[in-house]
Amino acid sequence: MKLLKSLTFWIFLGFTFGILLGYLFKESILPFAHPLATIFINTLKMIVMPIIIFSIASGILNIESGKELKKLGFKTFSYYLITTILAILTGQILVILVKPGSNITNLVTAEVENIPAAEGNILDILIDIIPTNPFKAMTDGNVIQVIFFMILFALIIMQFENKYRSFFNDFFQGGFNVMMEMVRWIIWLAPLGVFGIVAGIVAETGFGAIIGLMKYFFTVLGGLIFHAFVTLPLILSLFGKMNPWQHFKNMLLAIETAFFTSSSMATLPITMDCVINNDKVEPKVANFVLPIGATVNMDGTALYEAVAVIFIVQAYGIELTFVQLIIVLLTTILASIGAAAIPMAGFVMITIILKAVGLPLEGLGLVLAVDRLLDMARTTVNIWSDSCGAVVVNYLSRKER
Ligand code: ASP
Repeated sequence: MKLLKSLTFWIFLGFTFGILLGYLFKESILPFAHPLATIFINTLKMIVMPIIIFSIASGILNIESGKELKKLGFKTFSYYLITTILAILTGQILVILVKPGSNITNLVTAEVENIPAAEGNILDILIDIIPTNPFKAMTDGNVIQVIFFMILFALIIMQFENKYRSFFNDFFQGGFNVMMEMVRWIIWLAPLGVFGIVAGIVAETGFGAIIGLMKYFFTVLGGLIFHAFVTLPLILSLFGKMNPWQHFKNMLLAIETAFFTSSSMATLPITMDCVINNDKVEPKVANFVLPIGATVNMDGTALYEAVAVIFIVQAYGIELTFVQLIIVLLTTILASIGAAAIPMAGFVMITIILKAVGLPLEGLGLVLAVDRLLDMARTTVNIWSDSCGAVVVNYLSRKER
């Protein structure tokens, strides 16, 4: 805990100097800021794929029976679906009440030619979960395909008695422990990494962009704050029987990392460390719930996407019917599941929702200017929800035993 506190202090220092020097030196700080940010983020990315492979397999292999796995899976996915729907509803209600998109008189959209539209449709997203080549999926960093393959792999090992099972058990458990130790080393790069990230953002973006999109910006932020501070803590205390403040303190390092990296995936190793070592969630539960959560459970992204789409609809002066709102709800669930856990992925996935309700993709240009800042907030909510999910599923599973 002492270690954690001093690290938090150093990260805070990195943050403060990042703002200060980014503001003072503007673009001339970039040659120093970018390499520091890249080194930190790349080392985190380096360990993500091995962690996913080892943790999913060792998590499943430590589960006693197929029956226990089914129950765990049911609880996990129920939590993910319910919290995602609650997040979207919060966003939809807020944006309809606040109407940030009405009165946008000059519909200036940023250049959209360079915005990558998400490929394919919703069905393709589901079909794409199956890897045609699992090794390619691993080297490409296609997390959802790797998770699918590793679940299948571990389920089959579970069928074997003793010999293979104990070999793979030791192998994956050992690998997982090594990776977690690596996390503890790498995290000491965080203060410098945070300095680089923050200085870069301040020098490049500035905060001027917020002013024109103030109402939209604060609608998304308000929704995220409500979800993070009201909805999820309620669920945590009711179904996980845990004090939200205590959980917050336990998760501080992961929360900071998510905020600064804007990547749930890069944060995953630290989320796992905090949940297992500080919250004392059983490793087999955390190993199963968290990698899947980082990939499919994105409450922050879902809420943001719901607000952004309806904001664009309002800016175009269109009223959505009730049925269209339901379509937005359903496609947003899938778009948030399909969004990769990397910076700006949620933004790209908005194209899928816009297509579903027949809106021009140019609308995206409207929200681009503040996306980087909102990404920090929504990623933090994404991993906050994953960690609450791990505690809830852990408590409910323990109660059953
Ligand atoms: N950056 C988010 C994450 O990694 C995804 C998004 O862009 O919404 O969780």
